[in-house]
Amino acid sequence: MTFRFVFPAVLLLVFLSLTAPTARADEATCVAKLPSNIDAGMFGSEILEILSRSETFRRQCLRIAAVRFLRIRLGISPPLSTDYRAFTLLARYDAGALRADVTLAFAENYVELLGHEFEHVLEQIDGVNLRADAARGHARVLPDGAYETHRATEAGLQVLREYETLAPEAGRRRQLRLR
Ligand SMILES: [Zn+2]
Repeated sequence: MTFRFVFPAVLLLVFLSLTAPTARADEATCVAKLPSNIDAGMFGSEILEILSRSETFRRQCLRIAAVRFLRIRLGISPPLSTDYRAFTLLARYDAGALRADVTLAFAENYVELLGHEFEHVLEQIDGVNLRADAARGHARVLPDGAYETHRATEAGLQVLREYETLAPEAGRRRQLRLR
């Protein structure tokens, strides 16, 4: 009789010990600090500011933080061609790792673009089939073969709306952090 109770308990212990290393996102992650799998380059303080104002961006950040096989690196470039304000190059490795190099054009609206490009990364985490989405009209293929999606466009605009709505509150928060 007792065996029935002991067995699940042992399984639970094994489960916890296996999953403990993945529990990297502590309470401060995506609030006071960036996830370890985002190399923010010069955008560190910018991202913390957006996190303090946008619930959508916090959700994106927490989802990214939870994916161990993902690395995101942010970079900046001189103004891109007139067609682009940002782009993300995604590389998937044989072992399953996903690497995203996100480039933002200098002096663009980083708030909208970070929300937009992070959503592109999440699309890949979710296994979105861009070709199929394009066939259904949810995405389009640009002249150079890159994809643009409604989902990323909407996410970027939503992050921007939230950011602008909460501007006064974010100002008070920033003061608190400086004490
Ligand atoms: Zn896009």
